[in-house]
Amino acid sequence: MSGWIGGLHIHGLDRGQTPTADYLCTRCGAHKRATGSTDVKTFVATNPAADHSTRCNPATDKPHDAA
Ligand SMILES: [Zn+2]
Repeated sequence: MSGWIGGLHIHGLDRGQTPTADYLCTRCGAHKRATGSTDVKTFVATNPAADHSTRCNPATDKPHDAA
């Protein structure tokens, strides 16, 4: 995962691998992950970057958005 500076990253799409989607917010450090083709599709469809940006608040004492 070298060079990954945040945002939405999907990997494991090769045959025989388990698809995984990660979203990392570079502003507050929130990290979300979806694993499995169904969950990844749903996760991407929700546009996690836009979804998170509405709740991102790096100034709070809760840097990791658990929602
Ligand atoms: Zn954030």
